[in-house]
Amino acid sequence: MSFILHGLGVSGGIAIGRALLMSHATLEVSHLTIAPRMVDKEIDRFERAIAAVKAELATMKEATEHAPAELAAFIDLHAMFLDDPELVDVPKQLIRERRCNAEWALVQQMEHLVEQFEQFDDTYLKERKFDVVQVVERVVKELMGHPGRNLLRTAKGVKEENLVVVAHDLSPADVIAFKEHRFAAFITDVGGATSHTAILARSMAIPASVGLENARAVIRDGEQLIIDGTRGVVIVNPDIRILEEYQLRKNQLELERSKLKRLKSAKSQTIDGTEVQLQANIELPGDVPESLELGAEGIGLFRTEFLFLGRGDMPDEDEQFEAYRKVVKGMAGRPVTIRTFDLGGDKAIDENRTQTNPALGRRAIRLSLAEPKMFQTQLRAILRASKYGPVKLLIPMLAHAHEIDQTLAALEQAKSSLRGEKVSFDEKIEVGGMIEIPAAALAVGMFMRRLDFLSIGTNDLIQYTLAIDRMDEQVASLYDPLHPAVLMLIAHTIASAEKIDVPVSVCGELAGDPELTRLLLGMGLRIFSMHPTQILEVKSRVLKTDLTEVAPAVRKMLRLDEPAKLREALDKLNA
Ligand code: PEP
Ligand code: MG
Repeated sequence: MSFILHGLGVSGGIAIGRALLMSHATLEVSHLTIAPRMVDKEIDRFERAIAAVKAELATMKEATEHAPAELAAFIDLHAMFLDDPELVDVPKQLIRERRCNAEWALVQQMEHLVEQFEQFDDTYLKERKFDVVQVVERVVKELMGHPGRNLLRTAKGVKEENLVVVAHDLSPADVIAFKEHRFAAFITDVGGATSHTAILARSMAIPASVGLENARAVIRDGEQLIIDGTRGVVIVNPDIRILEEYQLRKNQLELERSKLKRLKSAKSQTIDGTEVQLQANIELPGDVPESLELGAEGIGLFRTEFLFLGRGDMPDEDEQFEAYRKVVKGMAGRPVTIRTFDLGGDKAIDENRTQTNPALGRRAIRLSLAEPKMFQTQLRAILRASKYGPVKLLIPMLAHAHEIDQTLAALEQAKSSLRGEKVSFDEKIEVGGMIEIPAAALAVGMFMRRLDFLSIGTNDLIQYTLAIDRMDEQVASLYDPLHPAVLMLIAHTIASAEKIDVPVSVCGELAGDPELTRLLLGMGLRIFSMHPTQILEVKSRVLKTDLTEVAPAVRKMLRLDEPAKLREALDKLNA
């Protein structure tokens, strides 16, 4: 049965592959013995979980009113299982007779039912076992409070590059693990366009679509999928005609990409001769060869926190030093901008710790300043690496002058301890600040007085300016880089820095969007940092841009505050 799901395209390109569902790790439940007096309570807990999942399915059904009929059919089928005595009464007997926990009783009965379904000759009936598993998974999640982190299991028999990961949600830590794999694409039920999960997909140039809502529930392991990561569309079990059409588009896209490779050694400058630096954003030392291969003139943002996500402990100074040194040596004399940990927000150190509002909480520099030992360790490791090539230090999420002052004092302390140990480092290491909070953009003067350079983090700047959670698919359509307020803040930051010759770059996702290259150039931006995979496309725009025409057009454009007019002006600029 073929059907289409619509989500948010977050990483362009076309992928064709087989579905690999994130493992049912939630179904690996523990077996607990309960006290006789707790039996009724346990049964009650089980009944409440069933009722909650029924209600959840009913809501889902309402929400899919205009969706394909097949989707509603899936939901009906799942709801039907929840009325089946085999699935709801037998586990209750098990709880009573064996005095076991509800999760375990349910999974026991599920396994029994799956075995029965497997005995059917009829393929349709045989496949219903997947529905039983999915519905049980929902109930177990409900029983356990919240879904645990699923781990990828390896699929047997299919090459990784032909697999599409299908998940309810993926944390940045999950996706960073993909760097060691070569999946064709991934799709998730939740997520926004500039969540770190999406950013990682773009950095790996693997097509991805997020915010699909029910993908994990309606797609089965091994089904054929087409992912159009630009439009956010997922076609499940496509017919041969559609498959051929997409295969053709996929080949065309690959051809275009390979043609761009010719630009690798071309000097990055506009038609009128203005030089533009194109640098790379990286997450791991292993990203360096690709960055060089695609012509990066430096590292504009090394998101150090990704080195250590998902491992549960903090790396010591030597381990960090080795990682930083590897990048610095790998870039062979080109500048490397190392950002101190931007932990917290969607890059949680401790996934069990909840914050009321992580994006506004103790994140990034706030966390580093609150954990002086952790911060000293990182600063010392970065300073030690600065001996091996030009290193710049970048501080995320600054808003207050006193945060900058405290950071500089911490740096001084790290320097002085190294001096005491006679360890050499670059005494003149430059320190820059991310401009990613509207307050920082508006009061940029106090940053420029204290720091050597600025780097605009448009991902967070947009999130905080528009009050749009960058991870939330429900407000993703409101995440608008062309909002007049966003453009004003970016333009103001660039113009202020230009006036007093403070170097300024953009390292948020906007820098890698070729549709916005001319706009940013026209605002005066000369340093762009982006995923290496975007560099050549952006370079091709730079090479075709005449600033004598673009700069006055952008000045005019910035006087507009009607979104439709801004969009029209941008189209004209790009024509
Ligand atoms: C940004 O916010 O634009 C940025 C570059 O930092 P991150 O995406 O890591 O938050
Ligand atoms: Mg940021």
